[in-house]
Amino acid sequence: MTSVSIREVAPRDGLQNEDPVPAADKIRLLDALSGTGVRRIEAVSFVHPKAIPQMADADEVWAKAWHNAEVRYSALIPNTRGAQRAIAAGFREIEVVVSASDTHNRRNLNRSTEESLDDIAGLIPLVHEAGATLEVIVATSFGCPFEGDVDPGRVAAIVARVRADGADRIAFGDTTGMATPRRVRDLLAEVRPDLLHFHNTRGTGLANILTALDLGVTEFDASAGGLGGCPYAPGASGNVATEEVVHMLHDMGIDTGIDLDRLLEAAELAEQVVGRQLPSGVLRAGPRTRLA
Ligand code: ZN
Repeated sequence: MTSVSIREVAPRDGLQNEDPVPAADKIRLLDALSGTGVRRIEAVSFVHPKAIPQMADADEVWAKAWHNAEVRYSALIPNTRGAQRAIAAGFREIEVVVSASDTHNRRNLNRSTEESLDDIAGLIPLVHEAGATLEVIVATSFGCPFEGDVDPGRVAAIVARVRADGADRIAFGDTTGMATPRRVRDLLAEVRPDLLHFHNTRGTGLANILTALDLGVTEFDASAGGLGGCPYAPGASGNVATEEVVHMLHDMGIDTGIDLDRLLEAAELAEQVVGRQLPSGVLRAGPRTRLA
């Protein structure tokens, strides 16, 4: 393992789960992250403004933000209307979420997992006709705050279904930080994702990433400062902090393309934007290489 691909999710996953902030602040954060050397950023989501007011200005934010040619930007969408907006805005990497847990899916999306899978099957041709790709993020893959354990077989069945329907990429989301190295091993023995999205809610984020790395996964989501959580899951907070992941990987001799100092500046900006201290340890202590 010599390099890992990190997708920075603070501008979307992070800010969507905070109190709304002005478009200008979102653009500043996006631009700062675009300059860190990170190669992929989840930039915005195209959701109904009544459902998620935090992302009501997605079109404006994206239109005014720096589009760094070295960075692949993606957008999250909930439905056909969202996909059309994302495509019109120029996105060619589109993500959609379905929960492995039926209860979480109903709370999040107001329909059963099966109904969401039917919706996704309908979305895929539309996205492909526009020359874009669709990533399906399977939320609550490692456990559900309402149902508890999630059977890896259920996640595998969802993956088989969406792959058969033409999905381009699969991600597993640890929506409420229930994953542990044991759960990572158990699920990945059953079915492999392209990318993993861990939360550090219970302190196991880096351990889970190391476990998945050992199993050959090389793509991970992370959020500057650890910004973000999940509004539909009680008590859930804390995406894995990008700088904690980068700090660890670089010390292991694994390249991410990211300049850690610039990333820490972006994480400080994220704190300013949301007006509170974020949970990242490396942001508090500084990197090990900073001696004074
Ligand atoms: Zn997240």
